[in-house]
Amino acid sequence: MDRVERAFMEIDRKFFLPDRAKRDFLRDSPVPIGYDQTTSQPSLIKKMIRILNPDKNSTVLEIGTGCGYQTALLAKLSKKVYTVEIIPELLDYARGKLNSLKLCNIDFKTGDGNLGWAEFSPFDSIIISAGCSSISAALVDQLAANGTLIAPVGTKRLQYLTVLKKINDGKIHKKTLDPVSFVELIGETGWNNGNPE
Ligand code: SAH
Repeated sequence: MDRVERAFMEIDRKFFLPDRAKRDFLRDSPVPIGYDQTTSQPSLIKKMIRILNPDKNSTVLEIGTGCGYQTALLAKLSKKVYTVEIIPELLDYARGKLNSLKLCNIDFKTGDGNLGWAEFSPFDSIIISAGCSSISAALVDQLAANGTLIAPVGTKRLQYLTVLKKINDGKIHKKTLDPVSFVELIGETGWNNGNPE
């Protein structure tokens, strides 16, 4: 079993789901977590984490803490996770869960993740866990040399997993992978700012 599989064994998805959704913990499908948000299916989270491939020297910026399940997995696999959530109640929920697991390598912030978290940049990995029409320039700026960013980019109904790699000289390589469907990113470069679909 590799380290990613081990992290998925160690972190219990059920523990992170709200009581009314706990019966769905074994289904590999998105599950509602309240506030019109959902936590993604574990297989998709695993796929994204494998692409980022964080190790114990890596810093990770996560946009969209949600219930904190993915945050916990990232915390197991990296040196430090900086997680930003726009809905304060969800951040509090996730913080409570993560603190009770004694995962100490996580910093939390309420706010618009499109702006990133400049103070702690650059990040080796950036993961956006909500669908967006484009990736904000601030996030690309805050990616370290040789760093990887993964995000679902597209329309409100359908996005494609998009991977940006920053090469040493600052150039960006972009790769578009599978179609996916995420809840929408809100805020600056999300959907509620008059962007056409
Ligand atoms: N990884 C999370 C996924 C949650 S769904 C989990 O496993 O639970 C997407 C999350 O992104 C929601 O919690 C939503 O509130 C949050 N979000 C949406 N727009 C955001 C923004 N601009 N900045 C930060 N978080 C945002």
